[in-house]
Amino acid sequence: MAGPERLGRVLSDSGRGLSFRCADCGHGGHMGKADALDTFGDQATPNRIRERLRCSSCGSRRCEVRV
Ligand SMILES: [Zn+2]
Repeated sequence: MAGPERLGRVLSDSGRGLSFRCADCGHGGHMGKADALDTFGDQATPNRIRERLRCSSCGSRRCEVRV
């Protein structure tokens, strides 16, 4: 069984940044690879990213993250 996905590996595999979508208001956003690593760190797990994310439009914590 594989360990938790780490942000650094996921982003270097995909070569792209992260996309967000707020589950409450539908606001979407994108964060470039460098910004994402700067904000969350290359060891961040998906759960940790979700915990720290907030919708920049309504402030909701229920954001969906995609690579
Ligand atoms: Zn929102």
